[in-house]
Amino acid sequence: MILFGPRYKGLLDDIYEHGVLPQDFSIYLHHPSITDPSVAPAGKSTFYALIPVANQGKLPIDWETVGPVLEKRILDEVGRRLIPDIHDRIVTKFHYAPRDFALDLNAYLGSAFSLEPILTQSAWFRGHNRDDKVKNFYLVGAGTHPGAGIPGVVGSAKATARLMVDDLR
Ligand SMILES: Cc1cc2nc3c(=O)[nH]c(=O)nc-3n(C[C@H](O)[C@H](O)[C@H](O)COP(=O)(O)OP(=O)(O)OC[C@H]3O[C@@H](n4cnc5c(N)ncnc54)[C@H](O)[C@@H]3O)c2cc1C
Repeated sequence: MILFGPRYKGLLDDIYEHGVLPQDFSIYLHHPSITDPSVAPAGKSTFYALIPVANQGKLPIDWETVGPVLEKRILDEVGRRLIPDIHDRIVTKFHYAPRDFALDLNAYLGSAFSLEPILTQSAWFRGHNRDDKVKNFYLVGAGTHPGAGIPGVVGSAKATARLMVDDLR
């Protein structure tokens, strides 16, 4: 479910062009315990609320300071629009920002989706699954052909495995 904010193009321009932290949000809400009860204790739920922000290259802010403030603003917004008593319902919470993507997952500039899917970095222009120059060097995952997202990543794994098997033959 998405809680759309008041702006669309202006919001994307703030994130991708201007590299500023937007004042308004479009929030992607996910409630995984509906389909997989094992991700929460009995009688409880697991939620996340996601907002897009610029990577650390475009927006080099101190996430240790900004993270908790932004977390509260997002929860306030969900409370205002959807779940009025959300603050009282929360048993435990954490937030995950570009700094965490960089430190925990080794993601370049804390980017959550690998290479930006602009035309010159999409489809054939993305990293090839078999390296063009180095023999026996194969690449897989969001930064490679065909691209980010679970279906794309699984597709790239299949393509890479097929190339490796072909080369072994
Ligand atoms: C919040 C969020 C929501 C998303 N929602 C969706 C969605 O609804 N649908 C969808 O299709 N996609 C979604 N995606 C995108 C999708 O999750 C990613 O495209 C996908 O997980 C990328 O898979 P990957 O295997 O390339 O990389 P990752 O899943 O990031 O795996 C890379 C792994 O490599 C490890 N690693 C890094 N460096 C090293 C090293 N030097 N040595 C050993 N290990 C290392 C990392 O720790 C990590 O475990 C979402 C992404 C985010 C961040």
